[in-house]
Amino acid sequence: MNLHEYQGKEVLASYGVAIQRGKVASTVEEAVNAFKALQTETGTEAVVVKAQIHAGGRGKGGGVKLAKNMDELKEHSANILGMMLKTPQTPGGMEGPGKLVRKVLVAEDCYAPDFDACKEYYVSILMDRTKKQNVIIYSTEGGMDIEAVAEETPELVHKEYIDPHVGLQGFQARKVAFNLGLSGQAFKEMTKFISKLYGAFVGSDASLFEINPCLHTADDRILAVDSKVSLDANALFRHPELAEMRDTDEEDPTEVEAQSYGLNYVNLDGNVGCMVNGAGLAMATMDIIKLSGGSPANFLDVGGTADAARVEQAFRIILRDDNVKAILINIFGGIVRCDRVAQGVVDAYKNMGNINVPIIVRLQGTNADIAKTIIDESGLEVHSAILLQEAADKVKSVIS
Ligand code: GDP
Ligand code: MN
Repeated sequence: MNLHEYQGKEVLASYGVAIQRGKVASTVEEAVNAFKALQTETGTEAVVVKAQIHAGGRGKGGGVKLAKNMDELKEHSANILGMMLKTPQTPGGMEGPGKLVRKVLVAEDCYAPDFDACKEYYVSILMDRTKKQNVIIYSTEGGMDIEAVAEETPELVHKEYIDPHVGLQGFQARKVAFNLGLSGQAFKEMTKFISKLYGAFVGSDASLFEINPCLHTADDRILAVDSKVSLDANALFRHPELAEMRDTDEEDPTEVEAQSYGLNYVNLDGNVGCMVNGAGLAMATMDIIKLSGGSPANFLDVGGTADAARVEQAFRIILRDDNVKAILINIFGGIVRCDRVAQGVVDAYKNMGNINVPIIVRLQGTNADIAKTIIDESGLEVHSAILLQEAADKVKSVIS
């Protein structure tokens, strides 16, 4: 689950990580109040107005603006709130439609008083699956495109792997500060920053932290100026307060609806819809669709109970995609009986009344024969199959 920058910073701050302080606002009026409150609380003169969307590169698209006074604050927040912000990371990139900005973060100008005396670093933490260890990736070349730095000057990108059994060691945090070229107070601050940041990563069950820029101020403080935080959705049950940070406005609406039915659905760009019980079988089914010359329109795991109501919900979700030319239903009847699933498919099909693409149903397992008879005698445009190859051949014949 991805968080907005302002939420990510709240998580960091709750673990003692030093952040650029700010307040979130949904209207110009709220932004004005946020500006006044920040001036009182932090003594800052200027603020940055930062669009809150789930995409980086906002600065490049005009979504991060410095406001030196109230007039500029009003102007920038009025422009940014409600805009369709295009960044290299929004769908379709700078040529795409952009993403609607519903909130801005009004944050203290922590580059003051001397912008040029500040230094921007890059710090991220994620899990390296091959090494089975978390890794801190860091560089002196922060603020800009880290991908370009990694490509052109890979020697400037450092990695520190953390042994999961002992956690982050003091010498490792010091090594990061040393490799960033720090000394004196800034060295100490960076060591503390890295330790707290790693504590936050583990404590919140995060899958990604990206702090770019991590700022070294003129007076030797180290602050998170930006935050990209992704949390492990499978661990959210341990963090109800973090689960509440989910913003479904930023997600694919069909995927959100599917989740509300308990369906695991991911939209893809192919032409054959699939409905399968079990994630492994769903993956295999997508392969079969590829082999038959089609391409999967989605991943959909209906889970254990493939009854009529659930099959109907799955049909609705799949058919919302205009690219779908056929649907392959592949169910293994282990706990659930195939004849019940077959009846569910027939009932859902009749109930919906508007299905206009051919359906291929492959049922294998308990009562597969009875299931095939139910499908074949239904009089609907539903083709049955027992072997996967048969199903693949039928998919091929209906889409070509
Ligand atoms: P991103 O473009 O989406 O990655 O947004 P960031 O939060 O990283 O901000 C982009 C850039 O805005 C930073 O690299 C800074 O150069 C600038 N910026 C962010 N905060 C401040 C600030 O407090 N003061 C000033 N002067 N510039 C800032
Ligand atoms: Mn950034």
